[in-house]
Amino acid sequence: MSKNKTAGYRGHHSYQKRKEAEARSFIRYRCGFTNTIQDVLRQRPGWVEVKEDEELDFNWCDVGWLRENFDHSYMEEHVRICHFRNYYELTRKNLMVKNLKRYRKTLEREVGHVEAAKCDFFPCTFELPSEYHLFVEEFKRNPKSTWIMKPVARSQGKGIFLFRKLKDIMDWKKDGSRLEEQRDEAQVESYVAQRYIENPYLIGGRKFDLRVYVLVSSYLPLKAWLYRDGFARFSNTRFSLSSIEDQYIHLTNVAVQKTAPDYDPERGCKWPMQQLRRYLTAKHGAHEVETLFRDIDNVFVHSLQSVQKVIINDKHCFELYGYDILLDQDLKPWLIEVNASPSLTPSSQQDYEMKCHLLEDTLHVVDMEGRLTGREKQVGGFDLMWNDGPVSRENSGLETLGSSCFSPNTNLGCFNDRENQLRHLKVLPGQKSA
Ligand code: ADP
Repeated sequence: MSKNKTAGYRGHHSYQKRKEAEARSFIRYRCGFTNTIQDVLRQRPGWVEVKEDEELDFNWCDVGWLRENFDHSYMEEHVRICHFRNYYELTRKNLMVKNLKRYRKTLEREVGHVEAAKCDFFPCTFELPSEYHLFVEEFKRNPKSTWIMKPVARSQGKGIFLFRKLKDIMDWKKDGSRLEEQRDEAQVESYVAQRYIENPYLIGGRKFDLRVYVLVSSYLPLKAWLYRDGFARFSNTRFSLSSIEDQYIHLTNVAVQKTAPDYDPERGCKWPMQQLRRYLTAKHGAHEVETLFRDIDNVFVHSLQSVQKVIINDKHCFELYGYDILLDQDLKPWLIEVNASPSLTPSSQQDYEMKCHLLEDTLHVVDMEGRLTGREKQVGGFDLMWNDGPVSRENSGLETLGSSCFSPNTNLGCFNDRENQLRHLKVLPGQKSA
Protein backbone atom coordinates (compact mmCIF):
# COMPACT_ATOMS: atom_id res chain seq x y z
CA MET A 1 0.00 0.00 0.00
CA SER A 2 1.60 3.29 -1.01
CA LYS A 3 0.51 6.58 0.43
CA ASN A 4 -1.19 9.15 -1.82
CA LYS A 5 1.24 8.82 -4.72
CA THR A 6 -1.29 6.88 -6.75
CA ALA A 7 -4.60 8.16 -5.31
CA GLY A 8 -7.24 8.37 -8.03
CA TYR A 9 -5.36 5.76 -10.03
CA ARG A 10 -7.31 2.75 -8.79
CA GLY A 11 -8.62 1.54 -12.13
CA HIS A 12 -5.18 1.39 -13.65
CA HIS A 13 -4.01 -1.84 -12.10
CA SER A 14 -1.73 -3.18 -14.75
CA TYR A 15 -1.51 -6.78 -15.81
CA GLN A 16 2.21 -6.63 -15.11
CA LYS A 17 1.64 -5.60 -11.45
CA ARG A 18 -0.81 -8.42 -10.91
CA LYS A 19 1.61 -10.94 -12.34
CA GLU A 20 4.33 -9.55 -10.09
CA ALA A 21 2.14 -10.01 -7.02
CA GLU A 22 1.30 -13.57 -8.03
CA ALA A 23 4.92 -14.41 -8.59
CA ARG A 24 6.07 -12.85 -5.31
CA SER A 25 7.27 -15.61 -3.07
CA PHE A 26 6.88 -13.66 0.20
CA ILE A 27 4.16 -11.53 1.73
CA ARG A 28 5.10 -8.03 2.86
CA TYR A 29 3.33 -6.89 6.02
CA ARG A 30 3.21 -4.00 8.43
CA CYS A 31 2.10 -4.38 12.04
CA GLY A 32 1.14 -1.46 14.29
CA PHE A 33 1.36 -3.51 17.50
CA THR A 34 4.10 -5.04 19.61
CA ASN A 35 2.09 -7.89 21.14
CA THR A 36 0.80 -11.33 20.12
CA ILE A 37 -0.05 -10.31 16.57
CA GLN A 38 3.54 -9.24 15.97
CA ASP A 39 4.79 -12.62 17.20
CA VAL A 40 2.34 -14.46 14.94
CA LEU A 41 3.25 -12.41 11.87
CA ARG A 42 6.98 -12.78 12.49
CA GLN A 43 6.71 -16.55 12.80
CA ARG A 44 4.58 -17.03 9.72
CA PRO A 45 6.60 -18.75 6.98
CA GLY A 46 7.15 -16.54 3.95
CA TRP A 47 6.05 -13.27 5.56
CA VAL A 48 8.43 -10.30 5.87
CA GLU A 49 7.97 -7.08 7.81
CA VAL A 50 8.32 -3.77 5.94
CA LYS A 51 8.72 -0.20 7.16
CA GLU A 52 6.05 2.51 7.35
CA ASP A 53 6.34 3.89 3.82
CA GLU A 54 7.28 0.75 1.93
CA GLU A 55 4.84 -1.08 -0.32
CA LEU A 56 2.98 -3.88 1.39
CA ASP A 57 0.50 -6.68 0.90
CA PHE A 58 -0.98 -6.94 4.40
CA ASN A 59 -1.55 -4.31 7.08
CA TRP A 60 -2.48 -5.07 10.69
CA CYS A 61 -2.95 -1.46 11.74
CA ASP A 62 -4.64 0.22 14.67
CA VAL A 63 -7.80 2.26 14.13
CA GLY A 64 -5.86 5.53 14.63
CA TRP A 65 -3.66 4.68 11.64
CA LEU A 66 -6.75 3.80 9.62
CA ARG A 67 -8.46 7.14 10.35
CA GLU A 68 -5.41 9.11 9.28
CA ASN A 69 -4.31 7.10 6.27
CA PHE A 70 -7.07 5.01 4.73
CA ASP A 71 -8.53 7.73 2.52
CA HIS A 72 -5.14 8.69 1.10
CA SER A 73 -3.97 5.16 0.43
CA TYR A 74 -4.01 3.26 -2.79
CA MET A 75 -4.35 -0.47 -2.36
CA GLU A 76 -3.59 -2.98 -5.03
CA GLU A 77 -6.20 -5.64 -5.68
CA HIS A 78 -4.64 -8.27 -3.43
CA VAL A 79 -3.83 -6.05 -0.39
CA ARG A 80 -5.64 -6.76 2.90
CA ILE A 81 -6.17 -4.50 5.92
CA CYS A 82 -7.65 -5.47 9.29
CA HIS A 83 -10.49 -2.90 9.61
CA PHE A 84 -13.39 -1.62 7.55
CA ARG A 85 -13.32 2.11 6.83
CA ASN A 86 -16.25 2.97 9.16
CA TYR A 87 -15.69 0.13 11.64
CA TYR A 88 -17.03 2.40 14.45
CA GLU A 89 -20.65 1.97 13.28
CA LEU A 90 -20.69 -1.29 15.23
CA THR A 91 -18.02 -0.68 17.82
CA ARG A 92 -18.89 2.72 19.25
CA LYS A 93 -21.42 2.20 22.01
CA ASN A 94 -23.93 4.85 20.85
CA LEU A 95 -23.75 3.95 17.15
CA MET A 96 -24.15 0.23 17.81
CA VAL A 97 -27.41 0.91 19.64
CA LYS A 98 -28.59 3.42 17.04
CA ASN A 99 -28.04 0.88 14.25
CA LEU A 100 -29.71 -1.90 16.21
CA LYS A 101 -32.77 0.25 17.01
CA ARG A 102 -33.14 1.24 13.36
CA TYR A 103 -32.72 -2.34 12.16
CA ARG A 104 -35.33 -3.56 14.64
CA LYS A 105 -37.79 -0.96 13.31
CA THR A 106 -37.12 -2.03 9.72
CA LEU A 107 -37.73 -5.68 10.61
CA GLU A 108 -40.92 -4.76 12.46
CA ARG A 109 -42.19 -2.93 9.38
CA GLU A 110 -41.04 -5.36 6.70
CA VAL A 111 -41.05 -8.81 8.29
CA GLY A 112 -43.10 -8.52 11.45
CA HIS A 113 -42.95 -8.58 15.19
CA VAL A 114 -41.50 -12.08 15.67
CA GLU A 115 -38.40 -11.33 13.59
CA ALA A 116 -37.99 -7.86 15.14
CA ALA A 117 -38.11 -9.39 18.63
CA LYS A 118 -34.94 -11.33 17.78
CA CYS A 119 -33.10 -7.99 18.15
CA ASP A 120 -34.14 -7.63 21.80
CA PHE A 121 -30.73 -8.55 23.15
CA PHE A 122 -29.37 -5.12 24.07
CA PRO A 123 -30.32 -3.31 27.27
CA CYS A 124 -32.47 -0.16 26.99
CA THR A 125 -29.97 2.60 26.08
CA PHE A 126 -29.97 6.37 25.50
CA GLU A 127 -27.25 8.64 24.21
CA LEU A 128 -26.44 11.60 26.44
CA PRO A 129 -26.64 14.52 26.20
CA SER A 130 -28.64 14.27 22.92
CA GLU A 131 -31.39 11.93 24.22
CA TYR A 132 -31.45 13.22 27.77
CA HIS A 133 -35.18 13.99 27.79
CA LEU A 134 -36.14 10.58 26.42
CA PHE A 135 -33.90 9.01 29.03
CA VAL A 136 -35.55 10.98 31.88
CA GLU A 137 -38.99 9.83 30.74
CA GLU A 138 -37.86 6.19 30.80
CA PHE A 139 -36.05 6.66 34.09
CA LYS A 140 -39.19 8.02 35.76
CA ARG A 141 -41.23 5.05 34.56
CA ASN A 142 -39.03 2.69 36.67
CA PRO A 143 -37.61 4.91 39.38
CA LYS A 144 -36.12 2.01 41.37
CA SER A 145 -33.89 0.55 38.69
CA THR A 146 -30.12 0.82 38.35
CA TRP A 147 -28.45 2.45 35.33
CA ILE A 148 -24.88 2.45 34.05
CA MET A 149 -23.19 5.46 32.40
CA LYS A 150 -20.47 4.74 29.84
CA PRO A 151 -18.44 7.13 27.67
CA VAL A 152 -19.14 6.09 24.06
CA ALA A 153 -15.58 5.95 22.82
CA ARG A 154 -13.48 4.81 25.76
CA SER A 155 -12.61 1.26 26.77
CA GLN A 156 -11.31 -0.92 29.62
CA GLY A 157 -14.01 0.33 31.97
CA LYS A 158 -12.69 3.90 31.96
CA GLY A 159 -15.16 6.63 32.93
CA ILE A 160 -17.96 4.15 33.81
CA PHE A 161 -20.24 4.55 36.84
CA LEU A 162 -23.56 3.17 38.11
CA PHE A 163 -26.42 5.32 39.40
CA ARG A 164 -29.96 5.22 40.74
CA LYS A 165 -30.78 8.89 41.17
CA LEU A 166 -31.14 11.61 38.55
CA LYS A 167 -29.16 13.85 40.86
CA ASP A 168 -26.04 11.75 40.08
CA ILE A 169 -26.47 12.63 36.42
CA MET A 170 -26.86 16.29 37.30
CA ASP A 171 -23.50 16.20 39.06
CA TRP A 172 -22.02 14.44 36.06
CA LYS A 173 -23.55 17.02 33.70
CA LYS A 174 -22.01 19.82 35.73
CA ASP A 175 -18.43 18.64 35.83
CA GLY A 176 -17.99 14.99 34.97
CA SER A 177 -18.95 15.02 31.33
CA ARG A 178 -15.82 16.49 29.84
CA LEU A 179 -12.55 14.78 29.21
CA GLU A 180 -9.63 16.45 30.97
CA GLU A 181 -8.42 18.06 27.76
CA GLN A 182 -11.91 19.32 26.94
CA ARG A 183 -12.60 21.08 30.22
CA ASP A 184 -12.18 24.53 28.72
CA GLU A 185 -14.05 23.80 25.56
CA ALA A 186 -17.76 23.81 24.92
CA GLN A 187 -17.54 20.22 23.63
CA VAL A 188 -19.15 17.60 25.85
CA GLU A 189 -18.10 13.98 25.77
CA SER A 190 -20.96 11.68 24.70
CA TYR A 191 -22.10 8.94 27.04
CA VAL A 192 -24.69 6.21 26.92
CA ALA A 193 -27.01 5.67 29.85
CA GLN A 194 -27.95 2.01 29.82
CA ARG A 195 -30.24 -0.14 31.94
CA TYR A 196 -27.96 -2.10 34.26
CA ILE A 197 -28.48 -5.90 34.17
CA GLU A 198 -29.35 -6.42 37.82
CA ASN A 199 -29.66 -10.20 37.72
CA PRO A 200 -26.43 -11.44 36.11
CA TYR A 201 -25.76 -15.17 36.04
CA LEU A 202 -23.38 -15.85 38.92
CA ILE A 203 -20.78 -18.58 39.39
CA GLY A 204 -19.32 -18.85 42.87
CA GLY A 205 -21.26 -15.66 43.66
CA ARG A 206 -19.34 -13.72 41.00
CA LYS A 207 -20.44 -11.93 37.89
CA PHE A 208 -18.74 -12.58 34.53
CA ASP A 209 -19.09 -11.71 30.88
CA LEU A 210 -18.05 -13.58 27.75
CA ARG A 211 -15.46 -12.54 25.19
CA VAL A 212 -16.18 -14.15 21.84
CA TYR A 213 -14.34 -13.65 18.54
CA VAL A 214 -16.17 -13.18 15.25
CA LEU A 215 -14.34 -12.62 11.99
CA VAL A 216 -16.08 -10.83 9.13
CA SER A 217 -14.39 -11.47 5.81
CA SER A 218 -17.02 -9.58 3.78
CA TYR A 219 -20.13 -7.46 4.46
CA LEU A 220 -21.63 -7.71 0.96
CA PRO A 221 -22.45 -10.55 0.91
CA LEU A 222 -22.13 -11.01 4.67
CA LYS A 223 -19.59 -13.74 5.45
CA ALA A 224 -18.89 -14.25 9.16
CA TRP A 225 -16.86 -16.84 11.07
CA LEU A 226 -17.19 -17.78 14.74
CA TYR A 227 -14.14 -18.89 16.74
CA ARG A 228 -14.52 -21.95 18.98
CA ASP A 229 -12.39 -20.58 21.81
CA GLY A 230 -13.07 -17.54 23.91
CA PHE A 231 -13.35 -16.97 27.63
CA ALA A 232 -15.44 -15.78 30.55
CA ARG A 233 -14.02 -12.83 32.54
CA PHE A 234 -14.96 -12.89 36.21
CA SER A 235 -15.11 -10.07 38.68
CA ASN A 236 -12.99 -10.51 41.76
CA THR A 237 -15.60 -9.68 44.39
CA ARG A 238 -18.94 -11.36 45.13
CA PHE A 239 -21.90 -9.74 43.40
CA SER A 240 -24.20 -7.46 45.35
CA LEU A 241 -26.48 -4.58 44.43
CA SER A 242 -25.88 -2.79 47.71
CA SER A 243 -22.59 -1.11 46.78
CA ILE A 244 -23.03 0.23 43.28
CA GLU A 245 -19.88 2.33 43.41
CA ASP A 246 -17.56 -0.72 43.69
CA GLN A 247 -16.02 -1.33 40.24
CA TYR A 248 -14.53 -4.66 41.32
CA ILE A 249 -18.05 -6.04 41.73
CA HIS A 250 -19.73 -4.59 38.65
CA LEU A 251 -17.13 -4.29 35.88
CA THR A 252 -15.64 -7.51 34.56
CA ASN A 253 -12.88 -5.89 32.46
CA VAL A 254 -9.52 -7.57 33.11
CA ALA A 255 -7.94 -4.07 33.11
CA VAL A 256 -10.16 -3.20 36.11
CA GLN A 257 -10.01 -6.53 37.95
CA LYS A 258 -6.23 -6.82 37.90
CA THR A 259 -5.93 -3.63 39.95
CA ALA A 260 -8.06 -5.13 42.77
CA PRO A 261 -6.02 -5.31 46.02
CA ASP A 262 -6.74 -9.05 46.41
CA TYR A 263 -6.21 -9.94 42.73
CA ASP A 264 -4.22 -13.14 42.36
CA PRO A 265 -2.27 -13.15 39.05
CA GLU A 266 -1.71 -16.91 39.32
CA ARG A 267 -5.43 -17.62 39.51
CA GLY A 268 -6.36 -14.78 37.11
CA CYS A 269 -10.01 -14.09 36.42
CA LYS A 270 -10.68 -16.08 33.26
CA TRP A 271 -12.27 -19.37 32.35
CA PRO A 272 -11.85 -20.85 28.87
CA MET A 273 -15.17 -21.03 26.99
CA GLN A 274 -15.01 -24.84 27.00
CA GLN A 275 -14.91 -24.86 30.81
CA LEU A 276 -17.91 -22.53 30.98
CA ARG A 277 -19.89 -24.62 28.50
CA ARG A 278 -19.16 -27.79 30.47
CA TYR A 279 -20.17 -26.10 33.74
CA LEU A 280 -23.47 -24.84 32.29
CA THR A 281 -24.21 -28.22 30.69
CA ALA A 282 -23.67 -30.02 34.01
CA LYS A 283 -26.01 -27.55 35.72
CA HIS A 284 -28.76 -27.07 33.15
CA GLY A 285 -28.48 -29.98 30.72
CA ALA A 286 -27.38 -30.08 27.10
CA HIS A 287 -30.71 -28.94 25.64
CA GLU A 288 -30.92 -25.69 27.58
CA VAL A 289 -27.27 -24.88 26.89
CA GLU A 290 -27.75 -25.61 23.21
CA THR A 291 -30.62 -23.08 23.20
CA LEU A 292 -28.42 -20.52 24.97
CA PHE A 293 -25.65 -20.90 22.39
CA ARG A 294 -28.20 -20.58 19.54
CA ASP A 295 -29.38 -17.35 21.16
CA ILE A 296 -25.78 -16.15 21.31
CA ASP A 297 -25.36 -16.93 17.57
CA ASN A 298 -28.49 -14.85 17.00
CA VAL A 299 -26.79 -11.88 18.73
CA PHE A 300 -23.84 -12.07 16.31
CA VAL A 301 -25.90 -12.45 13.18
CA HIS A 302 -28.47 -9.74 13.95
CA SER A 303 -25.89 -7.23 15.15
CA LEU A 304 -23.86 -7.73 11.95
CA GLN A 305 -26.98 -7.46 9.82
CA SER A 306 -27.87 -4.21 11.59
CA VAL A 307 -24.79 -2.56 10.08
CA GLN A 308 -24.59 -4.53 6.85
CA LYS A 309 -25.93 -1.65 4.75
CA VAL A 310 -24.03 0.97 6.74
CA ILE A 311 -20.50 -0.39 6.73
CA ILE A 312 -18.61 0.51 3.58
CA ASN A 313 -17.85 -2.88 2.11
CA ASP A 314 -14.40 -3.10 0.61
CA LYS A 315 -12.76 -6.27 -0.64
CA HIS A 316 -9.47 -5.19 0.96
CA CYS A 317 -10.94 -5.20 4.47
CA PHE A 318 -11.67 -7.79 7.12
CA GLU A 319 -12.40 -7.34 10.81
CA LEU A 320 -11.81 -9.51 13.88
CA TYR A 321 -14.43 -8.42 16.41
CA GLY A 322 -14.34 -9.08 20.15
CA TYR A 323 -17.94 -9.44 21.38
CA ASP A 324 -18.81 -8.84 25.05
CA ILE A 325 -21.86 -10.81 26.11
CA LEU A 326 -23.43 -10.95 29.57
CA LEU A 327 -25.73 -13.78 30.69
CA ASP A 328 -28.57 -13.20 33.11
CA GLN A 329 -30.10 -15.67 35.55
CA ASP A 330 -32.67 -16.78 32.95
CA LEU A 331 -29.76 -17.73 30.66
CA LYS A 332 -30.59 -14.86 28.33
CA PRO A 333 -27.55 -13.37 26.54
CA TRP A 334 -27.22 -9.56 26.45
CA LEU A 335 -24.95 -7.74 24.03
CA ILE A 336 -22.84 -5.27 26.00
CA GLU A 337 -20.32 -4.16 23.43
CA VAL A 338 -18.43 -5.05 20.25
CA ASN A 339 -14.70 -4.23 20.07
CA ALA A 340 -12.84 -3.53 16.83
CA SER A 341 -9.46 -3.98 18.47
CA PRO A 342 -10.01 -6.73 21.02
CA SER A 343 -7.11 -6.92 23.44
CA LEU A 344 -4.32 -9.11 22.12
CA THR A 345 -2.21 -8.66 25.23
CA PRO A 346 -2.04 -12.02 26.99
CA SER A 347 -2.87 -12.39 30.69
CA SER A 348 -1.29 -15.88 31.06
CA GLN A 349 0.57 -18.51 29.03
CA GLN A 350 -2.73 -20.26 28.23
CA ASP A 351 -4.24 -16.94 27.11
CA TYR A 352 -1.18 -16.26 24.94
CA GLU A 353 -1.50 -19.62 23.19
CA MET A 354 -5.21 -19.15 22.60
CA LYS A 355 -4.63 -15.70 21.09
CA CYS A 356 -1.79 -16.96 18.89
CA HIS A 357 -4.05 -19.71 17.51
CA LEU A 358 -6.88 -17.23 16.99
CA LEU A 359 -4.62 -14.90 15.02
CA GLU A 360 -2.98 -17.69 13.02
CA ASP A 361 -6.44 -18.92 12.05
CA THR A 362 -7.52 -15.38 11.17
CA LEU A 363 -4.61 -15.27 8.71
CA HIS A 364 -5.65 -18.67 7.37
CA VAL A 365 -9.16 -17.35 6.65
CA VAL A 366 -7.86 -14.12 5.10
CA ASP A 367 -5.77 -16.46 2.96
CA MET A 368 -3.03 -14.26 1.55
CA GLU A 369 -1.26 -17.47 0.59
CA GLY A 370 -4.07 -18.76 -1.60
CA ARG A 371 -4.51 -22.10 0.17
CA LEU A 372 -8.32 -22.15 0.39
CA THR A 373 -10.84 -23.33 -2.18
CA GLY A 374 -13.48 -20.80 -1.04
CA ARG A 375 -15.90 -23.62 -0.13
CA GLU A 376 -14.57 -24.31 3.39
CA LYS A 377 -17.02 -24.40 6.31
CA GLN A 378 -14.22 -24.63 8.83
CA VAL A 379 -10.74 -23.09 8.75
CA GLY A 380 -8.62 -23.82 11.83
CA GLY A 381 -10.78 -22.96 14.87
CA PHE A 382 -13.18 -20.78 12.83
CA ASP A 383 -16.55 -22.16 11.75
CA LEU A 384 -18.41 -20.42 8.96
CA MET A 385 -21.53 -19.06 10.69
CA TRP A 386 -23.11 -16.95 7.95
CA ASN A 387 -22.49 -16.97 4.20
CA ASP A 388 -25.14 -14.68 2.74
CA GLY A 389 -27.49 -16.88 4.78
CA PRO A 390 -27.27 -19.38 7.63
CA VAL A 391 -24.73 -22.16 7.21
CA SER A 392 -25.79 -25.68 8.03
CA ARG A 393 -23.45 -28.29 9.46
CA GLU A 394 -24.80 -30.90 7.07
CA ASN A 395 -23.94 -30.92 3.42
CA SER A 396 -27.25 -31.89 1.84
CA GLY A 397 -28.30 -28.26 1.25
CA LEU A 398 -31.93 -29.23 1.95
CA GLU A 399 -32.08 -27.79 5.45
CA THR A 400 -33.42 -24.27 5.98
CA LEU A 401 -33.14 -22.12 9.07
CA GLY A 402 -36.08 -22.81 11.39
CA SER A 403 -36.75 -26.29 10.01
CA SER A 404 -36.36 -29.03 12.57
CA CYS A 405 -33.42 -30.65 10.79
CA PHE A 406 -31.36 -27.46 10.57
CA SER A 407 -28.20 -27.71 12.62
CA PRO A 408 -26.09 -24.55 12.55
CA ASN A 409 -22.42 -24.78 11.73
CA THR A 410 -21.23 -23.15 14.98
CA ASN A 411 -19.30 -24.69 17.87
CA LEU A 412 -18.59 -21.98 20.42
CA GLY A 413 -17.09 -23.57 23.54
CA CYS A 414 -16.79 -26.99 21.85
CA PHE A 415 -13.57 -28.90 21.25
CA ASN A 416 -11.23 -26.94 19.00
CA ASP A 417 -9.84 -29.46 16.53
CA ARG A 418 -7.95 -26.78 14.59
CA GLU A 419 -4.72 -28.71 14.20
CA ASN A 420 -6.45 -31.64 12.62
CA GLN A 421 -8.46 -29.35 10.37
CA LEU A 422 -5.42 -27.35 9.25
CA ARG A 423 -3.76 -30.53 8.01
CA HIS A 424 -6.28 -30.51 5.17
CA LEU A 425 -5.12 -27.14 3.85
CA LYS A 426 -3.11 -27.08 0.68
CA VAL A 427 0.64 -27.06 1.39
CA LEU A 428 2.51 -24.53 -0.71
CA PRO A 429 5.92 -25.27 -2.18
CA GLY A 430 8.60 -24.54 0.44
CA GLN A 431 6.05 -24.51 3.28
CA LYS A 432 5.78 -26.96 6.14
CA SER A 433 2.27 -28.37 6.69
CA ALA A 434 0.49 -27.12 9.84
P1 ADP B 1 -15.64 -0.75 28.12
O1 ADP B 1 -15.60 -0.47 26.67
O2 ADP B 1 -15.09 0.37 28.93
O3 ADP B 1 -15.08 -2.10 28.48
P2 ADP B 1 -18.27 -1.98 28.47
O4 ADP B 1 -19.54 -1.48 27.85
O5 ADP B 1 -17.69 -3.22 27.88
O6 ADP B 1 -17.21 -0.78 28.48
O7 ADP B 1 -18.53 -2.19 30.01
C1 ADP B 1 -17.53 -2.60 30.92
C2 ADP B 1 -18.06 -3.69 31.83
O8 ADP B 1 -19.17 -3.18 32.59
C3 ADP B 1 -18.62 -4.88 31.08
O9 ADP B 1 -17.60 -5.80 30.80
C4 ADP B 1 -19.64 -5.43 32.08
O10 ADP B 1 -19.00 -6.23 33.06
C5 ADP B 1 -20.16 -4.17 32.77
N1 ADP B 1 -21.39 -3.68 32.10
C6 ADP B 1 -21.46 -2.83 31.07
N2 ADP B 1 -22.74 -2.58 30.73
C7 ADP B 1 -23.50 -3.29 31.57
C8 ADP B 1 -24.91 -3.44 31.74
N3 ADP B 1 -25.78 -2.80 30.97
N4 ADP B 1 -25.35 -4.25 32.73
C9 ADP B 1 -24.47 -4.91 33.52
N5 ADP B 1 -23.13 -4.81 33.42
C10 ADP B 1 -22.64 -4.00 32.45
